[in-house]
Amino acid sequence: YNIREYQDSHISVLVDECIHYLVTKKDGIYVDCTAGEGGHIKAICEFCEDQAQIVGVDIDHEVLQISEQKLKDHLKNVKLIKAPYQNIDIVLAGLGIERVDGFLMDLGVSTFQLKAEDRGFSFSKDEPLDMRMDPESEVTAADIVNNYPEEKLRQIIFEYGEEKRFAHKIAKSIVRNRPINTTFELVNAIRKALPSSEVYKRKIHFATKTFQAIRIEVNNELKNLEEALSKFEKLLNKNGRVVIITFHSLEDRIVKNFFKNNDHYKLITTKPLLPSEQEQNKNPRSRSAKLRVAEFIGTD
Ligand code: SAM
Repeated sequence: YNIREYQDSHISVLVDECIHYLVTKKDGIYVDCTAGEGGHIKAICEFCEDQAQIVGVDIDHEVLQISEQKLKDHLKNVKLIKAPYQNIDIVLAGLGIERVDGFLMDLGVSTFQLKAEDRGFSFSKDEPLDMRMDPESEVTAADIVNNYPEEKLRQIIFEYGEEKRFAHKIAKSIVRNRPINTTFELVNAIRKALPSSEVYKRKIHFATKTFQAIRIEVNNELKNLEEALSKFEKLLNKNGRVVIITFHSLEDRIVKNFFKNNDHYKLITTKPLLPSEQEQNKNPRSRSAKLRVAEFIGTD
């Protein structure tokens, strides 16, 4: 895959639901914290008949090139910026925007990142072990797998992978099989740690949880999410919305607890919204998606 050959293969999740909850007025200002391939942004532009102002940020400059292409008819109202969403306050200040009407986050990996060559996110093809969402950042998955002490690896696999029973064995096997420089070498180290019943009987691929754990560590995903959440209320107009799609229970728990314990927000969804069966069949990636919405009601 190179960027020019790649065309629109990321199917955005819960698009109608996002628009329904995010857009409180068609001429509002909205921030997409995870612009990705621009699917959600395009849908918002169309729904708002190009009256809304949209700021889209992403840390992956390659993915932003794709969204720029996809959004070429809307760029008058859309600003795409390479930045980490946890710095959204700095980004908005730089644009002279004090407050906005909504924040959207669609966490997780984009299809481009999974499919592009040499990004090293996927256990289904052999590539250098990388997993950086920001290809310009410093620490790769290979650095972590080859240099972290066994106990730290165990902790990460246990907590971020929720690989409760086998974290210890997997960490040990990783250390024993160093150096591990490719995705397949990591898959093999995981395979060696698991009894064959686990390798063959799990509903999900046996490497999924460990790959998730390492990816979260490489990209500091949970801390970044917490930091971004804590900034939104200083940047929202009253009755502005925060709409978040998560793809695993750790993220969902952070989002749920953040809004539950904050009386500056009203919960719009008490239970998370899930994709319809029809959407799940059309887009298997959507199966683990959960959407939560909160409304900023002010600080006094
Ligand atoms: N909603 C997008 C669409 O419809 O095309 C897809 C978004 S994709 C699931 C998630 C995106 O979040 C990825 O492109 C990734 O690079 C980006 N991302 C991850 N962590 C980020 C961070 N800390 N700051 C900004 N973007 C981030």
